[in-house]
Amino acid sequence: TDHLLQIEDLDVTFRTKRGDVEAVNGIDLHVDAGEILCLVGESGSGKSVTAQSIIDLVPQPPGEISGRVWYKGQDLRTVNSAELRRVRADEVGFIFQDPMSSLNPVHTVGRQIVEAIRAQNDVSKSDARERAIELMERVGISDAGSRFGDYPFEFSGGMRQRVMIAIALANEPDLLIADEPTTALDVTIQAQVLELVRELRDELDMAVIWITHDFGVVAEIADHVAVMYAGNVVETADVYEVFDDPKHPYTRGLLESIPGSAAEQGRRLTPVEGEPPDLTALEPACRFRDRCPDAMPRCEDGMPATFVPDGDGDDRHEVRCYLYDDAPNADGPTDDGPT
Ligand code: SF4
Ligand code: MG
Repeated sequence: TDHLLQIEDLDVTFRTKRGDVEAVNGIDLHVDAGEILCLVGESGSGKSVTAQSIIDLVPQPPGEISGRVWYKGQDLRTVNSAELRRVRADEVGFIFQDPMSSLNPVHTVGRQIVEAIRAQNDVSKSDARERAIELMERVGISDAGSRFGDYPFEFSGGMRQRVMIAIALANEPDLLIADEPTTALDVTIQAQVLELVRELRDELDMAVIWITHDFGVVAEIADHVAVMYAGNVVETADVYEVFDDPKHPYTRGLLESIPGSAAEQGRRLTPVEGEPPDLTALEPACRFRDRCPDAMPRCEDGMPATFVPDGDGDDRHEVRCYLYDDAPNADGPTDDGPT
């Protein structure tokens, strides 16, 4: 494929005592160099599992994965483990939500950044140290030279997150995957981190997959957006399109619940009412049906296919909802719903 990363028909099921959890179902996504794709949705919508699947971080068992993950022309799902390790080490950066659980508490942050640099580059310790300090400065840790020898607990939450970003960037990744890394940060720090990621994207031309449940973050950082619900991508579009002309009833509901629209006007903040479906007991219907204000009898037929809404040619707008199946490129309902 021409894309840096292209996920095709990804399914992830967890075999549990409660039953099979269909965590991710039929996902198609792509991202290009220099592009920031936000995966947005409630917790449990499959965002993290999707991201983890890209570089094979989903434990199997209990997970079972099918589909393809094309990265620079090779399918990461079928490459050998040495190649997968190489891609992870040399080409992909990963930032997790909780820096305390990802940083080693008994090593200085400088040492951890140096190790990340030396893991893939044949550089001397002193060169790596120099680069680590540079990186720390890049991510906004002032006085990096003297903070190099500090331990993770000596940093604030925001600073630890910056350290994590420095580690993720140590190999100058072509693809950065970030799973809600700013959720725990106060808004000012969060804004700085988002700004930094945009800058680095510009400088390094890296692709970014940024996971969030926060449309404020999406507005700050995204070029493209994929909205996830109950294991499906229900809408993808260019970020302006998502805010200006959301199509899927779920996306519309989420946007109405943003503080600043409904809330600022004095209305009660009502996130989309209801609960997501039990992923162990799915009915052969649109997964959003029970919460959907627009549901119709047709919505019982199975999970809708992906439709291209009328008039949207260049902005990658796609929607999994029967409301749009009279669009020019409609390809009919899928039969891959749960049985
Ligand atoms: Fe609502 Fe039906 Fe569209 Fe699902 S397919 S989002 S239930 S209108
Ligand atoms: Mg998650």
